[in-house]
Amino acid sequence: MVTPPRYPEDMGVEKPRGLSPSSFSAFKDCPLAFRFSYLDRLPQPPSAAASKGTLVHRALELLMLRDAPARTIPNALTDLDRARTELARHPDFSELDLTVDEWDRFHADAEVLVRKYFELEDPTTIVPIGLELRLAATIGTVQLRGIIDRLELDPDGELVVTDYKTGSVPGEKYEIKRLAGVHMYAAMVQHVLGKRPVRVQLLYLSKPEAIITTPSDQSITGVMRKTDALWSAIGRACERDDFRPSTGPLCNWCAYKPYCPAYGGDPLQAAELLGPGQMIEPTLPLATTSA
Ligand code: SF4
Repeated sequence: MVTPPRYPEDMGVEKPRGLSPSSFSAFKDCPLAFRFSYLDRLPQPPSAAASKGTLVHRALELLMLRDAPARTIPNALTDLDRARTELARHPDFSELDLTVDEWDRFHADAEVLVRKYFELEDPTTIVPIGLELRLAATIGTVQLRGIIDRLELDPDGELVVTDYKTGSVPGEKYEIKRLAGVHMYAAMVQHVLGKRPVRVQLLYLSKPEAIITTPSDQSITGVMRKTDALWSAIGRACERDDFRPSTGPLCNWCAYKPYCPAYGGDPLQAAELLGPGQMIEPTLPLATTSA
C-alpha cells in the first residue's frame, strides 16, 4: 500500500479550461498519471499500438472524404498508403523503435484493420457530415472538449456518432467506461447542434464488433452528473496540487512508472521528459514511501 505524499497547500495547479471524455477517465484511473499527461503535458514515448490507431483513423477519414460509390476496399488500401506517407515523418512514427520485421507486421496489421472495417458496415451508405470533428461545450459546470471521428446522418436524417477503435474489444467493466465517454460525446453534440444523436457506435475493427448505444435524456443526465462530480474533484486536486498515484493494471503500460512514487520513483525527475533544462511547475513532491 502507498502512503499518499504530503503536498504543500499553497502550491495549486491551474485547473484546465476543458477536458476530453478520455481525460476524465484518466483522472479516475490515476490522478498522478493524469497530472503528468494532461496538466504537465509530459510527452510519452510513441507506442506502436497508438500509432497504428492514428494511421488507420486517417485512412478511414480519407475513405469517407471520397464520393460514396468510391468507398471500396482497393481505394481504402490506397488511402492507407497515402496516410502512411503523410504520417511517416511524424514523431509518433519516425521515433518508433521497430525492426524491419516489426514494421512489416505493423503495416500488415493496419491493412487487416482497414479490411475488417468493411465487415462492420457498407461505407457507401454512410452520409458523413463531420470527420475528426472538434467540439467544445460547457454543460452545467463541466467544460468538455473532444474530437468525434465521424458524425453522420442516418436514413431518417437523425444524427449518429461513430468512433473507430483499433484496440481489442473491452471486457464488461471497461465497456461501461467506454460508453460513459460516448454519452459525453452525445451530450456535446446535443449541446452544440441542439439535437441528440439517436445512436452512438464504437466500431472495434480488430474483432470486428460494433458496440452500439442509444443515448437518452436519462443516460446523458446520469453520465453528466458523474462527470460534474469528477470535474469538482479535479478542481479540488488542482487547488491542493494533490494528485496521488493509484496503482492498478494500467501501471503495466504507464510511461511515467519510472517517476511514480508508488514504485519508488521521483516525480521531479519526470521533468527530463520535457527535454534539457525544463522544470515541472509548480514543483512536484519529492517522494513517498510504501508501507
Ligand atoms: S505507474 Fe500506476 S500509479 Fe504510477 S503514475 Fe502510472 S498509472 Fe499511476
